[in-house]
Amino acid sequence: MTITRRQTREVSCGKVIIGGKSPITIQSMTNTDTRDVVKTVNQIKSLEEVGCDIVRVAIPDMEAADAIKLIKTEINIPIVADIHFDYRLALRCIENGVDKLRLNPGNIGGTDRVKEVVKQAKERGIPIRIGVNAGSIEKEILEKYEKVSAEALVESALNHIKLLEAVNFNDIIVSLKASDIKLTIDSYNMIAEKIDYPLHIGITEAGTIRNGTIKSSIGVGALLLGGIGDTVRISLTGDPVEEVLVGKEILQALHIRNFGIKFISCPTCGRCQIDLIGVANAVEYKLKNIKKPITVAIMGCAVNGPGEAKEADIGIAGGKSSALLFKRGQVIKKIREDQIEEILIDEIMKM
Ligand code: SF4
Repeated sequence: MTITRRQTREVSCGKVIIGGKSPITIQSMTNTDTRDVVKTVNQIKSLEEVGCDIVRVAIPDMEAADAIKLIKTEINIPIVADIHFDYRLALRCIENGVDKLRLNPGNIGGTDRVKEVVKQAKERGIPIRIGVNAGSIEKEILEKYEKVSAEALVESALNHIKLLEAVNFNDIIVSLKASDIKLTIDSYNMIAEKIDYPLHIGITEAGTIRNGTIKSSIGVGALLLGGIGDTVRISLTGDPVEEVLVGKEILQALHIRNFGIKFISCPTCGRCQIDLIGVANAVEYKLKNIKKPITVAIMGCAVNGPGEAKEADIGIAGGKSSALLFKRGQVIKKIREDQIEEILIDEIMKM
């Protein structure tokens, strides 16, 4: 499967490039109070550990804007300030070393303020993401289209883009998010025809971990398959670490990025005579941070097990309270059920 990625400009966000031919990055957003530097730094470190490329934090007030300075000294990934309405918060975040701003220039109170923010952002090489959301489209646009639609989202984004372009600012990233999958896909497809700025994609307010993962996999997956998307944020009502893990799974499933071990496991059926579900979950969890480009097959019985286990780099095929261990297509040994997890992990770690 070859995906032809849409050509976009490159925009630097700290040391990470968004767009062009650079890898599609994964973002998340902290859900701590940004003013609580210790909690926020700890959460960002957890996100870094699982492979988050860029992190965003909410900036509701000056105290949060000032926290950026301290947070920056403790973390290793670029940090984005999420700002609404108050341009002074943007200026303070820039002063405090933020790597990117998320703000809509049409909402900060006029051209002079846009100019001021842009002047400072330009001087420090800080990009701006215009983030249009179905829940906050401008009243006039909603009246024109009578409801939230792809056309309305795109028009709103183009208006914000024009404000930045009018003051010669082009380090722009754009997102057009809705919680409806089809609306989101239609909107991104529409704007992709009109601009070449990198696109930040995601299904917003997608829901709790299970619902949000399903909706995001469909929406983000469809966009990525169509070549759209330069940076991804999975939005989940849950631990932001889950957002990164889901984002990685989506990119890995589409062979867009390789983060480590690829697991294949069967759903089990009446033929399975071992606790395969327990083994599969335990092995996957314990190896979640191992970055080896290998495929591991965890299969329940002799029907499809040997075939998949042989095709994988390493795998097991369950038997009666036991399993056959395969490595590089060969049977290595027969193992007792109570040893499967330990031996499989041990053999994977040796590879
Ligand atoms: Fe059932 Fe065996 Fe297929 Fe697993 S591999 S689903 S246990 S037939």
